[in-house]
Amino acid sequence: MKENGLIVVGGGLAGCEAAWQAAQRGVRVRLYEMRPLVNTGAHVTDRLAELVCSNSFGSNQVDRGTGLLLNELRMLGSFLIRCADEAALPAGRALAVDRDKFSQRVTKAILEHPNITVIREEVKSIPEAPAIIASGPLTSESLSASIATFLGQANLFFYDAISPIVEADTINMSIAFRASRYDQESNGDYINCPMNQDEYEYFVNELIKAERIPLRPFEEKIESGVISGKGQFFEACLPIEVLAQRGKDALAYGPLRPVGLRDPRTGKRPYAVVQLRQDNLAGTLYNMVGFQTNLTFPEQKRVFRLIPGLEYAEFSRYGQMHRNTYIFSPQSLKPTLQTMRRPDLFMAGQIIGVEGYAGNIASGWLAGVNAARFLQGRLLFKLPRETMIGSLIYYITHASEKDFQPMKSNFGLLPYSEDEWLRNKKQRHLYFVQRSKEILGRWIEEFNVFD
Ligand SMILES: Cc1cc2nc3c(=O)[nH]c(=O)nc-3n(C[C@H](O)[C@H](O)[C@H](O)COP(=O)(O)OP(=O)(O)OC[C@H]3O[C@@H](n4cnc5c(N)ncnc54)[C@H](O)[C@@H]3O)c2cc1C
Repeated sequence: MKENGLIVVGGGLAGCEAAWQAAQRGVRVRLYEMRPLVNTGAHVTDRLAELVCSNSFGSNQVDRGTGLLLNELRMLGSFLIRCADEAALPAGRALAVDRDKFSQRVTKAILEHPNITVIREEVKSIPEAPAIIASGPLTSESLSASIATFLGQANLFFYDAISPIVEADTINMSIAFRASRYDQESNGDYINCPMNQDEYEYFVNELIKAERIPLRPFEEKIESGVISGKGQFFEACLPIEVLAQRGKDALAYGPLRPVGLRDPRTGKRPYAVVQLRQDNLAGTLYNMVGFQTNLTFPEQKRVFRLIPGLEYAEFSRYGQMHRNTYIFSPQSLKPTLQTMRRPDLFMAGQIIGVEGYAGNIASGWLAGVNAARFLQGRLLFKLPRETMIGSLIYYITHASEKDFQPMKSNFGLLPYSEDEWLRNKKQRHLYFVQRSKEILGRWIEEFNVFD
């Protein structure tokens, strides 16, 4: 059944998945992609679904957050994950693809789809017709301005300064201690990793020398602390390695200042302290306060493990700094990915605060399916929270202002009852995997998801 038609803005991962899902459900789709007429500064081809950086979709192991998400997407009939599986390269336990083969497959299939028309044009303002905005982290300036007007300036962010996130049970609590500044009595909201002077100086030295990710031209202003356009970027968001370069004690007087803290092992104030703040409700993840960084991922692992208490730390997300246009979704979107202000306008992809290729494809799947259902006057879907996709979308649309930040799939997002809590992490994850499989399987059948 052909319907009124849908506009999809952005031929990236989310936009292509959304367009395909809507088209497969009989909706006529006009997919707008501004490349190659207007470039993002990061993409290098004119193909749809170009992977701008890594060619890895992350772990394919089901007991990893991304692995579970990938499996759910396979169950849901994701078009892009099918293309990724077809373009897969040998990469151990990860799903890595031949990037050219992947984007060629997506582009060819989209161009040949009878219900999709690809239009190479920059969309400068939010369309008035039913639409999905999936213009990504590098959304063009005029469209960003239009989104800011529509949602309110305060609900649009331009830069990302993400600190690494550590799995709590890998922190060595015989060295690290819980406390809030000037409050040794209560249990304390922070986990503190104390350093003596030698440990601090060695750490700072290694931090300054560590290998960095080369900045692209549009990101260079970040390192100098200067920002162009309307972006929100503050001195406080400078990469930790850049701050460290300013002087031997720059960090000890800055984000690593030890004031108001005493190491319970010595009863004294440490020379410096790295603080970690709880990052999810379950308390299984902690982020490193003030550690936004541009170091390569292997160097983050090596250098941050020099911090006493983090010798064996496992990172569920590494720090990053790049231009990233994203909205404050909890105040802008419903769990169906409709905007709160306009039920016929959906958003998906990195612009809603989802991180990672698989997560962005997942949000495209939901927006595409729901936009089709909206146009056909059918009930819209919310995914079960016990699934990784459901929990990721739940976080994106429900996080508090204080906690909200771009998020990728991880087990800390999943809900559980007291009975379901297994101490052994591997067993716990496997239980979550089984639970997701059963619930999603039933949900797909009950709601005729492919209909
Ligand atoms: C420099 C950089 C490196 C990254 N590295 C990684 C990585 O290694 N791993 C990872 O998982 N994620 C990475 N990301 C995040 C990555 O962008 C997303 O995971 C993924 O590409 C997001 O999918 P998307 O569909 O939301 O956006 P995109 O894939 O960027 O697609 C958005 C599309 O919209 C188009 N567009 C923008 N504005 C308009 C407009 N006004 N009109 C028409 N078209 C428009 C763009 O040209 C683009 O093709 C990186 C991001 C950046 C900026």
